[in-house]
Amino acid sequence: MMPPQLKTLLLDARLPRLEVRMLLEHVLGKPRAWLLAHDTDPLAPEVAAAYESLAQRRLSGEPMAYLVGHREFMGHRFRVTPDVLIPRPDTEVLVETALECLADLAAPAVLDLGTGSGAIAISIALARRDARVMASDVSAAALAVAAANAWDLAASVRLVEGSWYEAVPAGEGFDLIVSNPPYVASDDPHLDQGDVRFEPRGALTDGAGGLEDLARIVLGAGRHLKRGGALWMEHGWDQAQAVRDLLAQAGFDAVHSRRDLAGIERISGG
Ligand code: GLN
Repeated sequence: MMPPQLKTLLLDARLPRLEVRMLLEHVLGKPRAWLLAHDTDPLAPEVAAAYESLAQRRLSGEPMAYLVGHREFMGHRFRVTPDVLIPRPDTEVLVETALECLADLAAPAVLDLGTGSGAIAISIALARRDARVMASDVSAAALAVAAANAWDLAASVRLVEGSWYEAVPAGEGFDLIVSNPPYVASDDPHLDQGDVRFEPRGALTDGAGGLEDLARIVLGAGRHLKRGGALWMEHGWDQAQAVRDLLAQAGFDAVHSRRDLAGIERISGG
């Protein structure tokens, strides 16, 4: 009998082909092109075992990003662990809007609240090397992931530990505040479906109706925004009007929303 070849794993029909290749890239530490060029190589038993254990975890629903330990966002590779939300392509509209807000400002000051993996803050810092970027999170474990990402990507971001504005020094003013806070209602069935089940609850839901943290961020912004400064937040598909109302009540003008890649009003600001 022929010894098993790498090919036998590449043809694993239990998972989508892209996922099989991503898991094998991770197990072997080789790029995809290498895998395909070496598909007749003999398969080491420890490789087969490591692959099988990841495949089993994937089959029981664990997100790919946690299995391979990274996810692309704004063209950068971010490390992720189960301590942080996995960056979503929909959130790129928040970064793009942030960069537009900053376009005419020299050396702008930016604050990202609830930074998680640091994807938003670091993407801004990389696109605007002159910016002074601060990012807060209540989770020390999340901040460790953000710090690793800032280091890997050579981004300069000041990380502070605390809930929303708690760790932001009094009197510190920003040209722009951004946040992708938890905004899913605690009774939303979405929390029990798919990848989301494995993500930190505290990054997804405010434990109430979904607007509590958004409201806290809006109410605290006044003390930390420079004159003419802006606040932009991500929110749920059905929260745009409610968030615009929160902003308007807090005295923001030119309040509006923007759509994500799926055409859903995903961020609001003013
Ligand atoms: N958009 C995410 C989801 O629906 C939630 C992200 C968040 O709560 N900030 O899974």
